Amino acid sequence: MEAPTILVSNDDGVHAPGLVALVQALREVGHVVVVAPERNWSAVGHTKTMHKPLRATQVVLPAAEGITAYQSNGSPSDCVALGLLGLAGRPVDLVVSGINDGANVSTDLLYSGTFAAAAEAAIAGVPAFAISLDAGQYLNYRSAAAFAAALARRMLARTAEAPGERPWLLNVNVPDRPEAERVGIQVTRLGTRVYRDALVERIDPRGRRYYWIGGNVPTGLAEEGTDIGALAAGDISITPVHLDLTDEARIEELRAWAARDG
Ligand code: MN
Repeated sequence: MEAPTILVSNDDGVHAPGLVALVQALREVGHVVVVAPERNWSAVGHTKTMHKPLRATQVVLPAAEGITAYQSNGSPSDCVALGLLGLAGRPVDLVVSGINDGANVSTDLLYSGTFAAAAEAAIAGVPAFAISLDAGQYLNYRSAAAFAAALARRMLARTAEAPGERPWLLNVNVPDRPEAERVGIQVTRLGTRVYRDALVERIDPRGRRYYWIGGNVPTGLAEEGTDIGALAAGDISITPVHLDLTDEARIEELRAWAARDG
């Protein structure tokens, strides 16, 4: 079998250490092509650039010679679209986004450019996963990258078994542990983030008010079976995600409203 093609992107920018570590590990699994933003787009969510041209220029990744890599002025999801629509130069079998500097759990997925890049692939029918390091004192991207390579192999094998099925979309978070340490794996659902945003109001030099959405870093409920719970227990979290946002539990009640009032 021909080597599978893996498109790699991220939201921290093409030169981020997490992307370099990911590319070094994934090149053992398949033919890697990188299309990633030229700057940091963290917390950009899922964007589609429609009102300006997208640029993509080839770059050399110093620690990953021989890998075809592009940097783009587009968002993370734009980068994946560019890759899938032709820039990768061949059909893509798997998209991997990361390794993000910082966990992406719970409703972070709606803000996360890392996750948006993976979701863009799923929308296009290509299996994908997003991977984030709960970055702490070790910045151990290497172990997270080794896990990404193992997961990529597994996903490629699964997709080869059942071509044409709904694409797999996974969100992965890795605790930041020393390299020698064994880390468990939990399959989870999304947990509950607790945001601690606060409005910061200032006055500009012309006397007009402006605002920052500031506050403290978010926490979360470390419930068992959730992504937040897994990280709190020191384990890797893998969550299968789908893009159907329908609130199934409320369909029946809403139908009753519609029948009564309609
Ligand atoms: Mn980021």
